[in-house]
Amino acid sequence: MRPAEQLLTELGISEPRDIDIDAIAYCVGAEIDYRSLTGCEAQIIGRADRAVIYVRKDIRPTRKRFSAGHELGHWHHHRGLSFVCRPEDIGRPIDETSKNAERVADAYAADLVLPRFMIAPKLQAMDRFTLNQLIELAGSFSASVTATAIRAVRLTRNPVILIAHNFFGRRWQWPSITAHGLRVRDDIDARSSAFGQLAAPGKLAPPRKEPASYWFERRHIERFDVDAQSMTTVEGESLTLIRILDQELIDIYAH
Ligand SMILES: [Zn+2]
Repeated sequence: MRPAEQLLTELGISEPRDIDIDAIAYCVGAEIDYRSLTGCEAQIIGRADRAVIYVRKDIRPTRKRFSAGHELGHWHHHRGLSFVCRPEDIGRPIDETSKNAERVADAYAADLVLPRFMIAPKLQAMDRFTLNQLIELAGSFSASVTATAIRAVRLTRNPVILIAHNFFGRRWQWPSITAHGLRVRDDIDARSSAFGQLAAPGKLAPPRKEPASYWFERRHIERFDVDAQSMTTVEGESLTLIRILDQELIDIYAH
């Protein structure tokens, strides 16, 4: 079990609603103070056994939780040190195996806010793996949809890919284990649901079938369809969940 999950277990916390970040911080000798900050989103002033954490008070509640968790990650992994973390240091969904201090703190925050041992059973109980279900899941963990969706995609055996776009193209992608090796296009196809959401953000539509060529640039891939469902995130990007409908697409193109 990873350190943040270990801590939750030691504290006897087993339900999402009981993940009280301020109380958890108190238990490990850190105090969180929400206040106005300029030039950074959160910071920790750490000594040997006590830390003070400042988190910007005028950010979204889900973001506040994650940023506080990020500083607790610094407290766990980089005890005694002080950090000043800018918005771009916190919650960047890239390689979670990175040893970079900011990524290590992010991984801790994700484990604290969305612990695997709580989310895995909920994923198993989900009848469908859709954005609607993931939004609901995010709500129960008071976490952002993006962070929750990344977590869920990393844990599920459904053949899905989660992708974030802006108008300039793909920002990042996370394939699930069963879709591993598939790589979506760098650009954004103007016919895709992701582009539609960016151009005219609207209510979450159900998943729709789209030609796989909207998403992948590979020879003859147009004979396959995928299910795509897109939404606009608070970050102003589109978040799309692609479901691979045909195992053959994976067999041919994933490597
Ligand atoms: Zn940091």
